[in-house]
Amino acid sequence: MRPRHKHGLGPDFEALVREQLDLGERWRICGSGVEEIERKSKREGIEAVTKETVAYCEIEASEGLKDAAVDAGRCPGCGGELRRRGNRDERSWRHLSVLGKPFEIRATLMRLQCLSDKCGRYCSMQAPWESPSKHFTLAQEEVVLKQVMESGFSGAALLLAIAATSLHKLVGRRVELAHAAQDWSCVTAVGVDDYAIGEGHEYVSIFSDIITRRVLFVAAGRSHETFKLFLEEGRKHRFRPDNVVYISMDMGTGYIKGAMLNFPRAVIVFDKFHVIKLANDKVDQIRRAELGKATAAIRGHLKGNRWIYLKNAANLTEKEKVRFSRIDMSSFWAGRAYQIRVALQSVYAYPDKDRARSRLKALIRWVRRLCKDAPAYFSVPMRSLTGTLEERADGILSHWDSKLTNAFHEGMHSAYSAVKRKARGLSFNGTRTLLYLHYGKLDFGFDLNATLHSSLKQAPSLRLTPSTTTKSAAREIA
Ligand SMILES: [Zn+2]
Repeated sequence: MRPRHKHGLGPDFEALVREQLDLGERWRICGSGVEEIERKSKREGIEAVTKETVAYCEIEASEGLKDAAVDAGRCPGCGGELRRRGNRDERSWRHLSVLGKPFEIRATLMRLQCLSDKCGRYCSMQAPWESPSKHFTLAQEEVVLKQVMESGFSGAALLLAIAATSLHKLVGRRVELAHAAQDWSCVTAVGVDDYAIGEGHEYVSIFSDIITRRVLFVAAGRSHETFKLFLEEGRKHRFRPDNVVYISMDMGTGYIKGAMLNFPRAVIVFDKFHVIKLANDKVDQIRRAELGKATAAIRGHLKGNRWIYLKNAANLTEKEKVRFSRIDMSSFWAGRAYQIRVALQSVYAYPDKDRARSRLKALIRWVRRLCKDAPAYFSVPMRSLTGTLEERADGILSHWDSKLTNAFHEGMHSAYSAVKRKARGLSFNGTRTLLYLHYGKLDFGFDLNATLHSSLKQAPSLRLTPSTTTKSAAREIA
């Protein structure tokens, strides 16, 4: 039994809590203190009891507030009037830690019941500090979401001293709620892309709104079936598939089939990133094959220079630029392949579609001529490349109609590696939560991207105390 009406943390501290939770006149702090509690947990069938020191603050609603809540409250089920049901509903919410110790807000809430005989539903009085994810306060929830953004689940669990399972539940629930409230009615251009999760054998498909640059939906797998799941989800978000004019994707058959079946009126655009990546993969394949067969002089060009062939000249380091200038690309096959990739990139520099089309055709003819006298390690991958370019030419050239920016997906690819590190060891659901949190542009009622430090500066009402400052904020202050 915990001690009642003991103001162990002192009046100044209680005043801070009152201010932070914005309690006003009608909630009363009736006790506070520090106590040791036992927590039971079960892991792999073994029950464990851990003792934990917890600071707490007990809050009570005034009688006036209770009466007002009965008068103004409506049944969450049928909207009918409510009556007081004396039973006490004891609740606790995890709030911002105090000196590294967990801090709980505790309150006994009045129970209410619907007056309607048909409904009769029970509910409790609403606590103003409660986050939509229930067991946490709003202030704690804000800190948790920002911390997970910054350090991932395991990092946040460690820094905030919250059990990993509660953290997953809180973030998962909160992201789910915010995601469910998303409106997709204005989406006109959809991008879809696959990403490997886990150890690389499992894939997720990420559907995004390219215009507003936000992730809409993450589906397991990368087959054409994912489009069906996307449409099903869309029903909850006022999505109008007929409004979709463009779908941007890679050149794999799965997504093409999915788009044709589910968005018959949309134009398929193969995004630039994937077209160039396909060529780049062939360059690397040829470079590897040639490394094993070439003369010592050519091997000198190839060995240790992998990134020279895969990067854009402008992005080379100073050291790489010097090495690059010494290589005669026309003198060996991997060099030729590199030139082909660069030529394909230059097609995208043409402002109009007709000229781009004739450049693409000329490029295909040139590569085919080269293939005639080339060894198999060059001609086989290159013939496959020209075959794909020819077959997919319409979708490649739709780039010029759509003027869709690829920057979003390119950016996603590099940014995703950051999420991926945070998602290591996570299930599909955990990975999806992180993707929505980072890229869903979800509305949580506060600016998720503002650092904790800057939100402190912006909020004179001090919702967050300095004791919750995160690593990055600490760095900024330092
Ligand atoms: Zn009711």
